[in-house]
Amino acid sequence: MKNLIDVWTKLERQPKYAEMVKPLSIYCAGTYERRFGTWRKALETFVEYVNSENAEYELPNNKSLQKKKEQRTSRGVNLRLRFMVFRRDNFKCTICGKSPANDSAVILHVDHIHPWVKGGQTVIDNLQTLCSGCNVGKSDLNMIETK
Ligand SMILES: [Zn+2]
Repeated sequence: MKNLIDVWTKLERQPKYAEMVKPLSIYCAGTYERRFGTWRKALETFVEYVNSENAEYELPNNKSLQKKKEQRTSRGVNLRLRFMVFRRDNFKCTICGKSPANDSAVILHVDHIHPWVKGGQTVIDNLQTLCSGCNVGKSDLNMIETK
C-alpha cells in the first residue's frame, strides 16, 4: 500500500494499470492482482486504507489536504465570492456608502475586515465592500494590509 501511495503522490492522481511499472512503482500491477484478485480490488482496498484512521501520510487528494484548506483560506477572493460580498453590501462602500451606480468614478473592492496577513479568513463574514478611497485609508491604518 505504501508503494501505491508513492505512485499516487508522484502522479497526483490514481495510477492506471499500465502505469504500475518500474521505476515509478516498485511493484507492478500484476503483484497487486495476485495479492487482491483484481487491479480494481487493489485500488478499492487502497482507497479504504487511505481513508482509514490509522493511515499516516499526506496525499495530494485526500482529506488531510482539504482540512488544511479549511483552516487557511487563500488570500485571493474569487469572482463568485466577490460578487456575493458586493450583493450583500448592495454594491455600496460599507464605510462611505458610495456606489458605482451613483458615481462612475467609484471602484469597489472586497476587503478583509480582519486582515488576511493577521490570520483573517477569506470567507464572506470577514469580507466587506469598500470603495478605493476607503480601502486605501484602511490600508494606511493597518500598515501591512494590502489588497
Ligand atoms: Zn468608501
